[in-house]
Amino acid sequence: MGEKQELLRKIPKIDEVLQDERLIFFMEKTPRSVVVEAVRQQINELRNGILQGSIEQTAGLDEIVEGALKQVRIRKKRSLRRVINATGIVLHTNLGRANLSDTAIEGVCEAASHYSTLEYDLKKGARGSRHSHVEEIIKQVTGAEAAMVVNNNAAATMLCLSAMARGKEVIVSRGELVEIGGSFRIPEIMEESGAILRDIGTTNKTKTSDYVNAYEEGVTGALLKVHTSNYKIIGFTQETTVSELAELGKQWGLPVIYDLGSGLMNDLTDFGVDEPTVQSALQDGADVVLFSGDKLLGGPQGGVIIGKKEYIDKMKAHPLARAFRVDKMTLSAMEATFFEYLDRTTCRKNIPILRMITMTAGELEKKAEALKAVLEKETEGFIFQVEACQDQVGGGSAPGVMLPGYAVSVRSEAVTEARIERTLRKAELPVIAHVFRDAVYLNVRTIEEKEYPLIAKALGSTKNCDREDQE
Ligand SMILES: *Cc1c(COP(=O)(O)O)cnc(C)c1O
Repeated sequence: MGEKQELLRKIPKIDEVLQDERLIFFMEKTPRSVVVEAVRQQINELRNGILQGSIEQTAGLDEIVEGALKQVRIRKKRSLRRVINATGIVLHTNLGRANLSDTAIEGVCEAASHYSTLEYDLKKGARGSRHSHVEEIIKQVTGAEAAMVVNNNAAATMLCLSAMARGKEVIVSRGELVEIGGSFRIPEIMEESGAILRDIGTTNKTKTSDYVNAYEEGVTGALLKVHTSNYKIIGFTQETTVSELAELGKQWGLPVIYDLGSGLMNDLTDFGVDEPTVQSALQDGADVVLFSGDKLLGGPQGGVIIGKKEYIDKMKAHPLARAFRVDKMTLSAMEATFFEYLDRTTCRKNIPILRMITMTAGELEKKAEALKAVLEKETEGFIFQVEACQDQVGGGSAPGVMLPGYAVSVRSEAVTEARIERTLRKAELPVIAHVFRDAVYLNVRTIEEKEYPLIAKALGSTKNCDREDQE
């Protein structure tokens, strides 16, 4: 008993520990209460251990400080963290879709750190409109009469239907009643918006005559076309084109709304991506076109609405526009992203997702060789191989399109592929990779060169143990 008392008395006091330089340094960037709590917990654990007899020696100051620092670091780990995307899926919705261009990132930082002209007109010295910052550049790039940006394409669809067809019927093909994921389903959005869904045709075939039969003067409010961006109907199919719908719209004096989804600006058919472009949607005669900011456009999350000025003006004035409005960081990133499109050549280099999609198999093979070399140099106990693989655009764009890519496969005599994958995922900087058969694959299309040593570091923390123990 006396011995335990002696040990307990030797435990440093909290205040004493908190004088330690390392902890004081940490407190500059960590709330003091978090540090104090970590020290208190270290001391409590020590005290309990001594009382229960599991600890037979008092820890010194150093040990307590180290323990507390470790705990603070765990506490400070963000929930929203950077990861390395080794899946080869460029627009991975779970991993944040599009990375921004350098200029868009600068825009975000500037908007975040300073006051700005968000709703201020420098020329007039008076209140301005937040829509104005992106409208001109979007008009210039797309050729549209007017434009605005809301929170995402789901919000754009909702706002558009509400402002243009509330209480009226909106005719849509049954083959286009899409679910995008989460709770975005055309019939449900339509209901929430107050418009009435008039679905026509069948899953595989919708003809112009179906639209004609469904139209009723004074009842029909709009014609909606939805790009089936995350699935394909093949075989015995027929759809009515935007041009055909535009003809009908003109005849009946009704707007044609086109939910395009992806927001592709420059044709990518040379790279196997067969998606309609924003410009072609307008040229074909759609009155309003809607698309996401963070899909093939390669910008921030947002819903871009372009088209006839009379309709966009209606949407700007709608109460939902306020509910769906974007912040200054999004506007700044969006403006910078569209600015990149003024040069058709450089935008492919400057916008990260376009750079990734347009990379050739030859370039990717070289990248894979370079990654393999780094991994071989920096780690031990693995077998690496460069292998051809198939990448995807992702993000519900270009369904079924496989981009020919290259990967480094990782195998080990001692460790299972499942454990390798788990170690990568749980690393300080997590690496998200997939297992196929007996190996983990690192698809290089979505990996930056600067990330090679970081992958090696994550892989290096794999514990060697017998394959049998781990199953
Ligand atoms: C992706 C998509 C949406 C939803 O866009 P978010 O920006 O994710 O809200 C809506 N419609 C279509 C056709 C899409 O492809």
